[in-house]
Amino acid sequence: MASSPATTPEPPRDCPLCPRLVTYRRENQAAHPDWFNGPAPSFGDPDARVLVVGLAPGRTGANRTGRPFTGDHAGVLLYETLIKYGFAKGHYQARPDDGLILTGCMITNAVRCAPPGNKPETSEETTCRPFLAARIAALPKLKVIVTLGDVSRRNVLKALGLKASAAPGGHGAEFEVAGYHLINSYHCSRLNTNTGRLTTPMFEAVFERAKKLAG
Ligand code: SF4
Repeated sequence: MASSPATTPEPPRDCPLCPRLVTYRRENQAAHPDWFNGPAPSFGDPDARVLVVGLAPGRTGANRTGRPFTGDHAGVLLYETLIKYGFAKGHYQARPDDGLILTGCMITNAVRCAPPGNKPETSEETTCRPFLAARIAALPKLKVIVTLGDVSRRNVLKALGLKASAAPGGHGAEFEVAGYHLINSYHCSRLNTNTGRLTTPMFEAVFERAKKLAG
């Protein structure tokens, strides 16, 4: 299983560790005081057998609403797919009070605070990684980790004590480490879905596989 957590699974709402992201958070707080504007907490079932790991909150998505993948384009395909494969119940309505419940699944991000341009710096990935390691370690029934995109993939590998090159990248690539099945997917971003790099059948195949591996 994952190495011992150096911290808690969820950062404090005012986590001060990444100066650039704290500055960005404060800018967003000043411009949009009604937004969440903080580290987006993981969302889902504490008995999750499947953990979905995204990149980082989108400024107008999770940074605005406070729930991962909620309020921006990427959440539509993700939540509809989770519902289809039995990992979520309810109707996704792009707001945190839509009543959606995850069952056997949790969603988190490799970097918990929204980065400018959706691009965290390497140092920010490193600084936030103990929270990811702690998140993984705190899920006693976890079997499958679905990484969405390469930033997620390499941070999960490092959180498990491996090099980023330890597992192959690419859509659908699988790897076994520390008792977990890792499945990599292209990120369900607007760019990937609009260009056809990631289609709905491709994304669904990942979760069909995750369901089979999770038992
Ligand atoms: S990205 Fe992570 S480590 Fe950095 S400030 Fe946010 S919660 Fe803290």
